[in-house]
Amino acid sequence: MIFLERVSKTYPGGVTALRDASLSIAAGELVAIVGPSGSGKSTMLHLIGTLDRPSSGQVTIDGYDVSVLSDRSLSALRSTRIGFVFQQFHLAAGVPVVDNVADGLLYAGVPLRERRRRARAALERVGLGHRLDHRPHELSGGERQRVAVARAVVGEPPILLADEPTGNLDSASGAAVMALLHDLHASGTTVVVITHDLDIAASLPRQVRMRDGQVLS
Ligand code: ADP
Repeated sequence: MIFLERVSKTYPGGVTALRDASLSIAAGELVAIVGPSGSGKSTMLHLIGTLDRPSSGQVTIDGYDVSVLSDRSLSALRSTRIGFVFQQFHLAAGVPVVDNVADGLLYAGVPLRERRRRARAALERVGLGHRLDHRPHELSGGERQRVAVARAVVGEPPILLADEPTGNLDSASGAAVMALLHDLHASGTTVVVITHDLDIAASLPRQVRMRDGQVLS
């Protein structure tokens, strides 16, 4: 599902954030990418998520070689196959929860009524069916992150990428979000979680360890 072959990334300004990193993740895996701050984890996730292109090496997502796709094709690949969850939630302020989630289907060309119907179903799935009309500021941090997970999976992407999804949460809320990721994995989604938390990494079936832009193991 995810294949990186000797991938390097040097940012303008000269920082090499990834060096010759190779990684293969099969469909249906649940994987932690773990390493200290600055080790290249976010850069790796951006490349897997096709938000950025490598300086060298090959990135293949669901059989598509990212380097040969136009920006437009890359957006289409991303919007149909990849869901994202970030540490900072990134919900639209002042917008009801159901519409925050429905907006996850904007690029799929689904009519509004159907977007809202699917959003309600996704919110039920994360245990927030009773919070549809709340605004993000009326929710706890853990609830906000569950909304973000609902938005990421409302289009049923085969891949879910989560960048420090529990980084802003207390341990009980963090555990609830991790339980959701386990549920998605159990239903067949390929899930990749970036974390610097060794306990969270150890709770997942596979750990990819990074240091100084390299994959150690
Ligand atoms: P991690 O997620 O493990 O903390 P990152 O991938 O964010 O690591 O960063 C790896 C290195 O690349 C760091 O030295 C960081 O400062 C640098 N870096 C990350 N993003 C950029 C960017 N957009 N421009 C320049 N340097 C960057």
